[in-house]
Amino acid sequence: MKLRPHHLMCTQGYGGKGYDKSFVENMNYITNVIKNDKNAIIELVFSTDDICKSCPNMKGLNLCNTNNKVKSIDNKVIKYFNLEEKKYNYHEIVNFIKENITEEIMDDICSLCEWYSISNCKNVMCNKNKDKK
Ligand code: SF4
Repeated sequence: MKLRPHHLMCTQGYGGKGYDKSFVENMNYITNVIKNDKNAIIELVFSTDDICKSCPNMKGLNLCNTNNKVKSIDNKVIKYFNLEEKKYNYHEIVNFIKENITEEIMDDICSLCEWYSISNCKNVMCNKNKDKK
């Protein structure tokens, strides 16, 4: 499973809403698989990923309709949490982010995202409760 940096957080805050039916079905599948397997391994890619693949905004490899915005969000996640393009245990890297994120950092990363104000991301990421699965 390939995930881009900011999708480590999106998969945590996701609440069933998305760009279209295909996106939501794929997101449901991906979040079910990685959240229900404590050994889930993801390959972190600084590019489009397995979530983008079913998104109407994806225009090509490494190309999103809002590329400047999503690249800027990815770059902030990479810098704040020293991420590398490599494989991670999904739950370990999510817990590492949760342990080190603050509300101020989260606002800095996510304030440009159209879903941020209507999603549960901030509560999930900043409540310091570890991802148990
Ligand atoms: S909006 Fe862009 S970054 Fe987000 S899932 Fe769609 S293609 Fe990927």
